[in-house]
Amino acid sequence: MIMKTESVPKVSSKIARRVAELPPSGIRKFFDLVLATEGVVSLGVGEPDFTTPRAVRDEAISILELGKTSYTSNFGLRELRVELAQWLERQYGLRYDPDTEILITVGGSEALDVALRALLEPGDEVLVLEPCFVSYAPLVVLAGGTPRYVPTYQEEGFRVNFDRLREAVTPRTKAVVVNYPNNPTGATLREDDLRKLLAFATEYDLIILSDEIYAELTYEGRHCSLGALPDAKERTLLVSGFSKAFAMTGWWLGYLCGPSEMISAMLKIHQYAIMCAPTISQYAAIVALRGCEADVAAMREEYRRRRDFIVKAFNEIGLRTLLPEGAFYVFANIRDTGLNSEEFCTQLLQSQKVAIVPGTAFGPSGEGFVRASYAASLERLEKAVEGIARFLKK
Ligand code: PMP
Repeated sequence: MIMKTESVPKVSSKIARRVAELPPSGIRKFFDLVLATEGVVSLGVGEPDFTTPRAVRDEAISILELGKTSYTSNFGLRELRVELAQWLERQYGLRYDPDTEILITVGGSEALDVALRALLEPGDEVLVLEPCFVSYAPLVVLAGGTPRYVPTYQEEGFRVNFDRLREAVTPRTKAVVVNYPNNPTGATLREDDLRKLLAFATEYDLIILSDEIYAELTYEGRHCSLGALPDAKERTLLVSGFSKAFAMTGWWLGYLCGPSEMISAMLKIHQYAIMCAPTISQYAAIVALRGCEADVAAMREEYRRRRDFIVKAFNEIGLRTLLPEGAFYVFANIRDTGLNSEEFCTQLLQSQKVAIVPGTAFGPSGEGFVRASYAASLERLEKAVEGIARFLKK
């Protein structure tokens, strides 16, 4: 006989504490507000406004028609891994073995998740340079670790300050997460920064999680990939994907490259949690790597035009904004307005129906800043700038 319990426990008490205590994403919270407002000009979302190149879409259609609809290897299609290894070598001089050092994942997002889950013991610390992509700290927490934020500042061009990184190291520090070109600041790391980063990681025996998902969207000079530096490979995990460069966000395809022992540990999580990345997307991505250089270059040039427009326009209306070296965001200083980031964005939305994201969504040093994405048509950018200018005049 089942005994009736006196008091039924609340469902919320069943939720794991580390999840219950996780704050909701600052971006999501703000976008719920945007969705509730009609006729908004949004520079909020971090995704290309272009459609995936025609050849990639055509390939997906024919793969469907051929009925290639089953699971692939847990690692991902071998043909894709071979193509990717060649592409990474052509683009960045990286050398990864397609059989043991590359895992195809469900977006860069899953790559980050499995990497952190495979690395961290409870209580391990991870240095996270911020302002940064919203997922890093929550994923560290979900993997049982503790994130340690290390700020970067506009006055320093949002570059990495190694003294501050050193100060944040403890005996529990296991890894450091870097993202370049950076979301949200647009700053990138040059070869000499990478050498310093590698020396720092070697000194403290840290793994570097290098999120280079915006590498193809580099406007100043060429992207230098960390794993291509001598002696870097053994402590570098490259996280990247197809979402940004190839305008393929909805295809959910990314990858993780690193030493084979680490990749096989990450494969274990991936094979139990996911099995394999989407099959149609994997076939289509081969075509993206093989034949879409011109499409990627055209999108990059368009982003560059928009970047030049918005940086000039923002500075002219009084928002101090650095020229981003890559990605498709500007991180503008709003301190002179006397408003905090959240107030600025909420009032701007309410009075001008323009949506941009409060800098605080990207970490504590995002206070006093707002992020605007220029993955939007020039026309939309002009409209948004007009709205912001009117708002500032008031
Ligand atoms: N890293 C960074 C820095 C990002 O901005 C994003 C997406 N906004 C991702 C990873 C995740 O990308 P994906 O869509 O491939 O999961």
